[in-house]
Amino acid sequence: MIDCIFCKIVAGDIPANKMYEDDEILAFWDISPQAPKHFLVIPKKHIADAVAMANEDIELMGKIIKQGTRLAQEHGIGSDFRVVINNGAGAGQTVFHLHVHFLGGRAMLWPPG
Ligand code: 5GP
Ligand code: ZN
Repeated sequence: MIDCIFCKIVAGDIPANKMYEDDEILAFWDISPQAPKHFLVIPKKHIADAVAMANEDIELMGKIIKQGTRLAQEHGIGSDFRVVINNGAGAGQTVFHLHVHFLGGRAMLWPPG
């Protein structure tokens, strides 16, 4: 999609500090980390947000969660981490290409605010 920053990262038009990619998903470190370890896992295809997911995307999202947990292990985060989808501007979404945040390396508070 034109003017989508994450589609541009997928296409290689904007650089990113990539951690993992395959034909369907991409993981990269967040440019503005909110924890000592903060990375994003995204579908390569453009899906605006979780509401825009189709039934055919259900397996893809499971893959994103599973791969994120693998990366947490590989990068020393272990099993204590926060998994976040900010859905909609009112919930803090700023990039309208579905992405799952993985945050770790520090204690997490609840509620998140
Ligand atoms: P949201 O606020 O939509 O849930 O999360 C968007 C995230 O994308 C933010 O944490 C922001 O720091 C990150 N981000 C925005 N632009 C870029 C970029 O060009 N490169 C990387 N690596 N992260 C980005
Ligand atoms: Zn996109």
